[in-house]
Amino acid sequence: MRPYLLITIDAESDDLWARRAELTFENIGAMPRLQEFFERHGVRPTWLVTYPVATSEIGRHVFGEIARRGSAEIGSHMHVWTTPPLAPLTPNDHKYCPLASEISYEQQYEKMLNVTRAVGELAGAAPRAYRAGRYALDGNGLRVLEALGYTVDTSVTPLLSWREPGHDGGWRGPDFTRAPLEPYHPANEDLTRAGASPILEVPVSFFLTRPLPSGLARWLVRLPRNNNLVRALRWSGVVRHSWLRPGREVSGRTLAGVARALIAAGIPVLNVMFHSSEMAAGTSPHTKTQAQVEESYEQLDYLFRAAIGGMGAQPMTLSEFAAAHAAAQPAAPPLADSHARG
Ligand SMILES: [Zn+2]
Repeated sequence: MRPYLLITIDAESDDLWARRAELTFENIGAMPRLQEFFERHGVRPTWLVTYPVATSEIGRHVFGEIARRGSAEIGSHMHVWTTPPLAPLTPNDHKYCPLASEISYEQQYEKMLNVTRAVGELAGAAPRAYRAGRYALDGNGLRVLEALGYTVDTSVTPLLSWREPGHDGGWRGPDFTRAPLEPYHPANEDLTRAGASPILEVPVSFFLTRPLPSGLARWLVRLPRNNNLVRALRWSGVVRHSWLRPGREVSGRTLAGVARALIAAGIPVLNVMFHSSEMAAGTSPHTKTQAQVEESYEQLDYLFRAAIGGMGAQPMTLSEFAAAHAAAQPAAPPLADSHARG
């Protein structure tokens, strides 16, 4: 089976790690270069755009043009604390960044409706692909996506947990430790299990840095990161867990290793995730200098050559992948009642 190469980018304001109240969009001006770089490699990215970016002057200009080129998909990404209707949810929303899983279905729906309209206006077509801000998709979020016409989501990060203390002393954030590694239709009551949702979940790629026999890889990758064997393998440089994502902790070789490891384990979907702000200088903690940005470009260049040229991976957008995935499923049995479908 030919592997798939998907690039899913959160297109959002500058350095959200700094939790400033004022939003700036300097990084968006650097995205035409990234889009052209993708096009040279034949890569078809999926840009997941926030409400503030979709309604900013630079965002409309840059993503309007990318949409017209027809070589990318424009989907949505929602940050609760910057998406109208904007009623304060915590004592300081820019500091606490409330999650979609901390608000009601109705509140999620109203905000998602606004993102969906803004992104649809920008792209000239209703968005079909989504990623939740800080990966915080829950059962309500999944139902909202369905109600608003989405077909594919990429909020799940298997093997990773985002549980953290909330502003009120409780716990918040999704735990995807046990989530499937392959694309699946989630259960509304537990997103880490397969179920009946019509939304296709395409997990973000996080795996091992070198190919191993499938059974061994799938066993090793699910061991906790503080397990003695996992630590010994990491310290000795044999194999470790890694995102399939450019940055300072990896090299192009590491990324190609993760891609090979996924394919060897029978998971032929390479879903590269990062933020737009990580591909511009001074707009993320990972890219403080232009040299760090160039390094990320080199890593992606190495990965694309290895994955497309060496591994035969087929680049496509999230919706294109969802269509290919649906077409590859066994057909449903014919309906017994001839009136059921005309
Ligand atoms: Zn985000």
